Amino acid sequence: MAEQIVEPGRNTPVFGHYEVVVLGGGPAGIAAALAAGRRGRSTLLIERYGFCGGAGTAAGLSTFCGLHAVVHGRHEQVVHGIADDILDRLRVMDGLNTPHLTIRDQITALSYDISAFKIAIDELLAEAHVEMLYHAFGVGHVMRADARDNLIEAVIVETKSGRVAVRGDLFVDASGDGDLAAWAGVPYEVGDGAGNMLYPSTMFRINGVDPGKAGRAWELIPALMDEAEAAGRRFPRKKPVVRPQRNPIEWRANVTQIKNPDGTPVNGIDARQLSYGEIEGRRQCWDVFQFIKSVTPGFDNAYIVEIAPQLGIRETRRILGEYVLTDADVLGCRDFDDAIGVNGWPVEAHIKGDVKFVFTPPDSRGFNQIPYRIIVPQRIENLFVAGRCASMSHEGQSSARVSGACFVMGQAAGTAADLALANRLKPREVDVRALQQQLQRDGAFLGPVAKETARAAQTSQ
Ligand SMILES: Cc1cc2nc3c(=O)[nH]c(=O)nc-3n(C[C@H](O)[C@H](O)[C@H](O)COP(=O)(O)OP(=O)(O)OC[C@H]3O[C@@H](n4cnc5c(N)ncnc54)[C@H](O)[C@@H]3O)c2cc1C
Repeated sequence: MAEQIVEPGRNTPVFGHYEVVVLGGGPAGIAAALAAGRRGRSTLLIERYGFCGGAGTAAGLSTFCGLHAVVHGRHEQVVHGIADDILDRLRVMDGLNTPHLTIRDQITALSYDISAFKIAIDELLAEAHVEMLYHAFGVGHVMRADARDNLIEAVIVETKSGRVAVRGDLFVDASGDGDLAAWAGVPYEVGDGAGNMLYPSTMFRINGVDPGKAGRAWELIPALMDEAEAAGRRFPRKKPVVRPQRNPIEWRANVTQIKNPDGTPVNGIDARQLSYGEIEGRRQCWDVFQFIKSVTPGFDNAYIVEIAPQLGIRETRRILGEYVLTDADVLGCRDFDDAIGVNGWPVEAHIKGDVKFVFTPPDSRGFNQIPYRIIVPQRIENLFVAGRCASMSHEGQSSARVSGACFVMGQAAGTAADLALANRLKPREVDVRALQQQLQRDGAFLGPVAKETARAAQTSQ
């Protein structure tokens, strides 16, 4: 065992008691907090940074994937509800691009301005009366005294005013890494069972591009990189994405792949590897940018305006819930009785040196339903786990980890929390029909649902 010291016992002040406590302000946590706050629940959102957005802001993604699907050959937005409210607010702020085709024009994505996204989320959360605790890092938990109940009493948070405990009736772990769930003893998996997680990437944005001269350089850059590789130049990975933002003098670059010196993916829940990964990520950004600038028309005066504040982690822990969503479910466009929304993103596997995409068949419906059971963890009875750490197989998560599905899971978690509190139920006991009806009333698209659910949602509108 590694060397250890014993910390002295301490009394920790209670910051507050909330009906719903959400850990993590990424797409899943934002939607969960908004849904619970809008249902009138006292809600606290705890976020380690000073802004929300998760990987969408902190890791510089600046693109929503998974809001759209190819439905029998037609590109359609299929994720609605809270996602629409966020898109609407971004449009009002002139912070949203028109949808664009990506991955060789096979699917639709939507890029946004990162600063507008941060402000839009602040506004929406404030309007829903969600209390924010920024610069607050969840570091532990306390269980309720009667261990048989398997209930979390409080999450322990480090803040600039010291260590505090936040008590809650229900908790939503939207940390991306399943931190709270893991501390509380929820079983989980990491990677594919053979130590392979999806590789992380550090993203950066380029400014000073001449859009007229650059044209459709997003098609040219991968070809130029392939040519250079053939001549002996080495890049971190294939399938680079370099594309214009809302204002086309600014482009985003998703081109890196962060490996340990032994070639394995940097592990986002290993402190030493994370530190190494940040440095290696910035090195790769600088290296690839020099190449892009030197060969791409319109990039002569370009510069890196920002390397994302943090390394972009695609996968760490995935908790085990009442059901595990698989790639077969995704690619088979599977329906579930307990659907809480849909996912139309392909399986996107970031493997060593490359990115492998697998799409649903071209003539298919193009989306699967997401079952409620993947956000209901085993063992702990007052916890939801939403987002990329929900109950999905390694391959299933390679699809349903993107923003669209995370909004779906978050909205369902916040709405189910309200129903659980109203009826004094555990998450696993929530009436799924009532949940579906509420989600539909709140604008969500669930795909095919039982007739009585659809009827009830319509009549109560
Ligand atoms: C490089 C890269 C590119 C990607 N590209 C896209 C893309 O273009 N479009 C897309 O839709 N998806 C993309 N993804 C997928 C993206 O990760 C997911 O869409 C999504 O952000 C996951 O949402 P989440 O809410 O589950 O977790 P996250 O986005 O990871 O958010 C988790 C939040 O919890 C906070 N947190 C974590 N631990 C704690 C703690 N202990 N205490 C307090 N706060 C904590 C974090 O700071 C963060 O804000 C990409 C991912 C990566 C890494």
